[in-house]
Amino acid sequence: DYSVSLPKTGKDELGDLAHSIHLLAHQLDYLTKERNEFLASISHELRTPLTYIKGYTDIVHKRNLPRDEQEKYLGIILEETTRLSILIKELFDLAKFDQNTFVIQKKRIDFSEFLLKMEQKLLPAFIEKNMNLQVTCPPHLFLMADPIRLEQIFLNLLDNAMKYSQHGTRTDLKVEKKGTNLHITVTDNGKGIPETDLPHIFSRFYRVDKSRTRALGGSGLGLAIVKELVHAHDGKITVNSKENIGTEFAIILKGATE
Ligand code: ADP
Repeated sequence: DYSVSLPKTGKDELGDLAHSIHLLAHQLDYLTKERNEFLASISHELRTPLTYIKGYTDIVHKRNLPRDEQEKYLGIILEETTRLSILIKELFDLAKFDQNTFVIQKKRIDFSEFLLKMEQKLLPAFIEKNMNLQVTCPPHLFLMADPIRLEQIFLNLLDNAMKYSQHGTRTDLKVEKKGTNLHITVTDNGKGIPETDLPHIFSRFYRVDKSRTRALGGSGLGLAIVKELVHAHDGKITVNSKENIGTEFAIILKGATE
């Protein structure tokens, strides 16, 4: 917490002022440290794909490789380029959240229709991993929300459910209307999140297992963006998880109508 608080007691006004300046300096230190860590993470995340791209481009360019090897390296170059462009887009979104210039464009959404479309889009990926996706939502439920951003929220959560679960497991997306609130849960029975990591998973660039998740293609920004997007919709998101049992993300959105 780095909110500025002025001391109420002090020997005299000068003493108060000195104390306030001391506090401010401490808070600035904290912010500078956080900012530097963020910048270090950004440059690391940008440099890694660039190193691959440069390295493999060099090889394909200089060596006379057989066609199949060329294809393999070009595939990696393409993958890393995609990773870079996703990362840059995510950083751009985060910058807009920080500057309060992020805009959402709300429309009236038929929630079950919206989820059905998303389910159809995602089902092949689940099937390919021999996993099951179960979507439950009452019909004729409407909400004012930004459909593109809403989709981004659920794609992120479902993608994570897929990435961090074993073959043959099941993921549930359940929607319930309680008063005018929508209670949405995304539940998987995957590997779960250790208790000590749980408070950090919405932080930028935070990954539970650094080496493993990189291989899975995540940037560590997904949940940080999901949280911002939920807040931009005036909603709340919480997480519950048990290692080796599963994870549940719960979102509450206001203003649902029938
Ligand atoms: P990433 O791009 O690494 O997936 P996220 O911000 O989406 O980054 O998630 C942060 C971390 O939280 C992940 O690296 C992973 O360790 C953990 N995590 C997120 N969702 C799940 C889940 N459904 N099951 C287990 N771990 C998860």
